[in-house]
Amino acid sequence: MEAGHWLARARARESIWREWRHELHAHPELAYEERRTAAFVARQLRSFGLEPIEGLAGTGVVAVLEGRGGDGPMIALRADMDALPVAEANTFAHASREPGKMHACGHDGHTTMLLAAAELLAAEPAFSGSVVFVFQPAEEGGGGARRMVEEGFFERFPVRELYGMHNWPGLPAGQFAVHSGPVMAGTERFRIALRGRGTHAAMPHLGKDVVVAGAALVQALQTVVSRQVDPLQPVVLSVTQFHAGHAFNVIPEEAELAGTVRAFAPELFVRIREELERIGKGVADAFGLSLRVEWDEGYPPTINTAAEAARCAEVAAALVGAQNVRREEPPSMGAEDFAFFLQHRPGAYVWIGNGASEGGCLLHSPHYDFNDEILPLGAAYWAALATHVLAA
Ligand SMILES: [Zn+2]
Ligand SMILES: [Zn+2]
Repeated sequence: MEAGHWLARARARESIWREWRHELHAHPELAYEERRTAAFVARQLRSFGLEPIEGLAGTGVVAVLEGRGGDGPMIALRADMDALPVAEANTFAHASREPGKMHACGHDGHTTMLLAAAELLAAEPAFSGSVVFVFQPAEEGGGGARRMVEEGFFERFPVRELYGMHNWPGLPAGQFAVHSGPVMAGTERFRIALRGRGTHAAMPHLGKDVVVAGAALVQALQTVVSRQVDPLQPVVLSVTQFHAGHAFNVIPEEAELAGTVRAFAPELFVRIREELERIGKGVADAFGLSLRVEWDEGYPPTINTAAEAARCAEVAAALVGAQNVRREEPPSMGAEDFAFFLQHRPGAYVWIGNGASEGGCLLHSPHYDFNDEILPLGAAYWAALATHVLAA
């Protein structure tokens, strides 16, 4: 099936899909609370003649579509459904009706585009094998994909490969970016507890001050990346929290610092852990304090496999022309839990241009909105990708 065929079919359904997207945008739900969204997804899938399986990883929904071309491989197309704890600043008619919750990352658009693709493909399943539509919960920090994998996703759906897509503000509408290799960074979180001896603010010599030591530690940690890592390696270490004290006249006994590390190479995470702990211990010793560091694994880096990325690029080029498919875009230091699927199977995660990022239309901004104009393109891309990979 030609890419142009899918695009024409998609354009004919565009106005209905906008309504779906606005419905989802108006009712955002946070990680693992996507009940209304999941019910909406399941209802639509049923209306296409599919049999959705609900309750995967809590609120996830999956449906399998068999091609009419007979036996063939199984592939998965994945969208995320969760919103963010952001208070929407937009005032248009479809703005969030849930105080403090917002689709500020465009997962309403992702869900709509995958539903739209399911609708197109269910009407014309011109492929051999099967397509698994994956609507996952909790992409934003909750690790919904990890939970799906832990609950046996690959045993239940033995897919050969998986594909993901994220809208990208700043990339023009009508363009794609396809990375061969790293596309999104890996993350780790750290928490540092400093313990000293609390005392009267007027008698500092009788205590061990965690505030002064903590300030020195924040400064010292700036050298982990700048002095210990090859400058050609992309790494970020950010201290994002520093909690200590409750009174103006008390030197507190404890301080807690926290932050995040972002990188692509697994060995860098090992190196940064060692350096942060070494420097932390050195600073604590210098000030006569005790220190404890805890690490939380976040998301692994999202690394596209070359062959699957090449297929995505081919399909995107058939839709928008090769000149509108960027292959050399630098990766993002943001993270993405599609990485958990890619730890087990080959696949690729592409960016679809969301248009200009002016006026605060940035991911996670209270001014963001998914660009409805790209709904048909995204849906056609999914349908064309499935029929290209599973050519009958
Ligand atoms: Zn996000
Ligand atoms: Zn997102």
